[in-house]
Amino acid sequence: MIPAILPTYNRAPLNFVKGEGTWLIEADGRRFLDLGAGIAVNALGHAHPGLVAALTAQAETLWHVSNLYHIGPQEKLAEMLVAATFADTVFFTNSGTESCELAVKMARKYFFDAGQPERVEILTFSGSFHGRSAAGIAAAGSEKMTHGFGPLLPGFRHLPFGNHEALQGAIDDRTAAILVEPIQGEGGILPLPDVCLKGLRELCDANGILLILDEVQCGMGRTGKLFAHEWAGIAPDIMMVAKGIGGGFPLGAVLATEDAASGMTAGTHGSTYGGNPLACAVGCAVMEAVTAPGFLEEVTARAGQFRQGLEGLVAEYPSVFSAVRGSGLMLGIVCAAPNMDVVNAGYGAEVLMVPAADNVVRLLPPLNISEAEVAEALSRLRATAETVQAHAA
Ligand SMILES: *Cc1c(COP(=O)(O)O)cnc(C)c1O
Repeated sequence: MIPAILPTYNRAPLNFVKGEGTWLIEADGRRFLDLGAGIAVNALGHAHPGLVAALTAQAETLWHVSNLYHIGPQEKLAEMLVAATFADTVFFTNSGTESCELAVKMARKYFFDAGQPERVEILTFSGSFHGRSAAGIAAAGSEKMTHGFGPLLPGFRHLPFGNHEALQGAIDDRTAAILVEPIQGEGGILPLPDVCLKGLRELCDANGILLILDEVQCGMGRTGKLFAHEWAGIAPDIMMVAKGIGGGFPLGAVLATEDAASGMTAGTHGSTYGGNPLACAVGCAVMEAVTAPGFLEEVTARAGQFRQGLEGLVAEYPSVFSAVRGSGLMLGIVCAAPNMDVVNAGYGAEVLMVPAADNVVRLLPPLNISEAEVAEALSRLRATAETVQAHAA
């Protein structure tokens, strides 16, 4: 018999009933160190007092009004994002995949209005992930996500990751945009080197096409900059955001330059819940925390501490771990043992990790993880490695 919940997830036998900062408490009382943070969602950890206060104050004032009217917290959050980024304008969604939908529509409308309606094609890369909507799965294109769900939304061309010749050869008079994650998340914490991101920007400029960045996972302070592309000193035309921006409350956004957004006039797009007062009040509190003086420097300091410890574990347990990669607090350990063995052994050591493609385990802790908690994480990861090594022997 089909369960009451549609069985699309492989769930671990864990049921968390409470969260406190970097900790999750299981129904049986065990305290787990949360290095997954809801897959880079709980950017400030669980039950952050500032976010709780922002949400409760908004809940007591106004939950929902339609985008038929002005929404104060939405305007405030948009202004904060515009002030802190390349963007001139913001549209709020409720998820990453909804941000993908708008990014695709915006790019197509841009060229339609520019008198080039044949420019509809968006170039994407193997291993990418852009969510589970029709546009999201068509954009990523992997067999795993698209099998059985045809016909797929047309207009995407999939290129091998890191192959410059293939990319240059793929741009023609039907190309509208390149869509890429600065660091692939689901694909296994695979960073696009800064020089490649610069190269993509130059290629887009040279061909008059748009650069769309998916910073749903790597954005909002995760790498030690507010957005990951800042490390390369470039800016996109359109950027998808979600996950960390709501700190655990459903919220996403599309950020864009005035030029790229020029086709999105009144009536061309909308959302019932997108930009609602509750989500935006929380979003403002997240932005205030992440852009506070010293916050991102602290992310970089914790990242250095974490990475150094992980390199030590890789050297010490070569039969379990083979390499560390990523940026800031978006870290991946390439495993020598099966990555699910590592994740499962982690449950025994009461530490939560997230698997990814390429036999990687992801470490995406809350950005405000403390120095002592990083030390505790390393000690629990050592215990995890001991278990996996003992089983393999
Ligand atoms: C999670 C993710 C998405 C999809 O976000 P949802 O909120 O699950 O729809 C899109 N792109 C990237 C890079 C992601 O990590």
